[in-house]
Amino acid sequence: MNDPSKGPGRPGRVKEITALTNPTIKAIRGLDRKRNREANNSFMAEGQKLVIDAVDLGWTIKTLIYAKNARGHAGVADLAAKVIARGGDVLEVSEKVLGAITRRDNPQMVVGVFAMRWADPKTLPRDADTVCVVLDRVRDPGNLGTILRTADAAGAKGIILVGDCVDPFSIEAVRATMGSLFAVPIARMSEEEFLAFRTAWPGKLIGTHLEGAVDYRTVDWAGSGPLLLMMGNESHGLPDNLAQSCDLLARIPQSGRADSLNLAVATGLMLFEARRHALSFKESE
Ligand code: SAM
Repeated sequence: MNDPSKGPGRPGRVKEITALTNPTIKAIRGLDRKRNREANNSFMAEGQKLVIDAVDLGWTIKTLIYAKNARGHAGVADLAAKVIARGGDVLEVSEKVLGAITRRDNPQMVVGVFAMRWADPKTLPRDADTVCVVLDRVRDPGNLGTILRTADAAGAKGIILVGDCVDPFSIEAVRATMGSLFAVPIARMSEEEFLAFRTAWPGKLIGTHLEGAVDYRTVDWAGSGPLLLMMGNESHGLPDNLAQSCDLLARIPQSGRADSLNLAVATGLMLFEARRHALSFKESE
């Protein structure tokens, strides 16, 4: 039911929904499937701060959903007013509906449905101090989300997904980014497209490999920018053709019985080593 009233603490044009059978709610719940996300060019992100940050960063919010018991919260009312002003819908829903949308027992009070946004690889910065992370067929949404979060914290300028990667707009990946999804441009391309892109890239392509010839602490980080840092698939590592396309393959020496590091951990080590060598990365704090 449309509510035309604009009482204090309650934005105008808010739809109240309590039924799980409501078609809008069904469509939002369907965003847990990649097929539906792509068909609707939409994905979901949870949490008031994260949704506010995304809106402030200029992401298009299609629908704001908040729990009925958040109605009086000043932050929620301001956010709802902003969403309405930008032409989005606002839904006030029961906790049961919110739990069903997010598939959580204790859902966040605020959820946003946003338009997906892919970066055009041509627009990625190419300054000498740029680092972009290239991920070959990353399969785990938690790894991808953690890498996005880490790349954001390390000052990386973009992520390039190569080949059949997990969807960064899946709810699990979005959760793991803790909001960094909205701050780091994400491009995607096939392996062939990447190999062509790489030849036109003005800086170095450094790959990581368990058999890499170069200890990652001895890489000439400062002389490598703008840098593409390529990480391999969780199960198989980098395939030979991608490994051979690299200017060098770096290895993180390990001890103990583990045969490799977790992909996100290895990416974090590489990014912060580059940062330590002041390849780029101006601290924002
Ligand atoms: N069994 C896989 C293999 O043979 O490469 C293990 C892949 S590992 C879980 C995922 C990715 O993390 C690797 O492709 C590489 O990019 C990076 N990585 C993990 N441990 C590493 C190490 N010690 N040195 C360099 N890269 C590493």
